[in-house]
Amino acid sequence: MVREQLMQLLSEREEEMIALRRHFHENPEISFEEKQTADTIAEFYAGKDVEVKRNVGNGYGIIVTIKGSKPGRTVALRADFDALPIEEATGLPFASKNPGVMHACGHDGHTAYLMILADCLIQLKDEWAGTVKIVHQNAEELGPGGAKSMVDSGELDDVDEIYGIHFYPSFEVGEIQYANGWAYAGCSEFKLKIQGNGGHGSMPHLSNDAIVAAASYVMNLQTIVSRRIDPFDMAVVTVGSFEGMGATNVIKDNLIIQGDARYMDIEVGKKIEEEMRKLARGLEESFGVTTEFEYHWDYPPVYNHPEQTEKAAKALQEKGVGNYLTNVVSAPPNNGAEDFGQYLLKIPGSFMNVGAKPDADEYFMNHNPKFDINEKALLVAAKAVADITLTALER
Ligand code: MN
Repeated sequence: MVREQLMQLLSEREEEMIALRRHFHENPEISFEEKQTADTIAEFYAGKDVEVKRNVGNGYGIIVTIKGSKPGRTVALRADFDALPIEEATGLPFASKNPGVMHACGHDGHTAYLMILADCLIQLKDEWAGTVKIVHQNAEELGPGGAKSMVDSGELDDVDEIYGIHFYPSFEVGEIQYANGWAYAGCSEFKLKIQGNGGHGSMPHLSNDAIVAAASYVMNLQTIVSRRIDPFDMAVVTVGSFEGMGATNVIKDNLIIQGDARYMDIEVGKKIEEEMRKLARGLEESFGVTTEFEYHWDYPPVYNHPEQTEKAAKALQEKGVGNYLTNVVSAPPNNGAEDFGQYLLKIPGSFMNVGAKPDADEYFMNHNPKFDINEKALLVAAKAVADITLTALER
């Protein structure tokens, strides 16, 4: 019964979801500076029969606790609310009013659908048992991200399962795609400082050339993936910055190389770090330079727990398809990074992708200045996460 009531309420409030999404879209704030966004969210819950905790973790994160009629399982639902340092070029009537800041990853939509779903769950709380924790997370887009600090706050220690979704404009509204197991890549950043011994271009034997050492390092890094990682494991190593400007007749004294590494398995990430350190030490012996190496663990891979993923997918297949969904498909992992993986290191759960392809033929991917989502996807997401939640609350 509660399911039918919830679905009905969500349908009735579709316009409100869209209005909220447009409000957030028009007023985007970048990671760790989402003060007004957090105020809007907190005001929405003011006066409702829930516990609202603000400033959870390292920023403006909010956790809203909704208690059902009886004790039971605790399920968390997460939506991120930060925007990106991008100048919007969509031309939408509700385009960003903040120059150089844009909701270009759909987090406006994640937050809007979840607020309305939360409100409907509050309205029906006498009809269901257990607890739902709504996690409005700050700073997904910028390391160290908000997720880890929200986990570390201890506010989610009692959570049995956690779920979240992400909108993508690359596939149709009504479709949900998910990966069982490894779903999004982990990401680390590295920085290597090479200190040589500068000198005159005519007397290389009296110097230790940092450029030659660095060039060798860049080429050697390519052998980590090709020679040190199991070909069946996913790994990428990229040098994105090589600061070597100088004069034509001066042997470079020092320089800095920076880049990132991506992997689907944390053990592979550790192997990459170990090999990078080893190659840096090798430069000292080979080229007579000294090195300083830093490796930062940015976001862990998103690992969807099989039991929860299968349970959620089954609920969507049985209840959603033919109703508000056309298709629920298992899909390959995504090479992007998402800090939802931080929750899944501690709490079983799953993170799924929701189709939000615009009605127009053309679409622009996440983080593009013309990125947009189809607003029909908001209600689809709300209903899908509602079905996942009710299923997860069952003992
Ligand atoms: Mn995103």
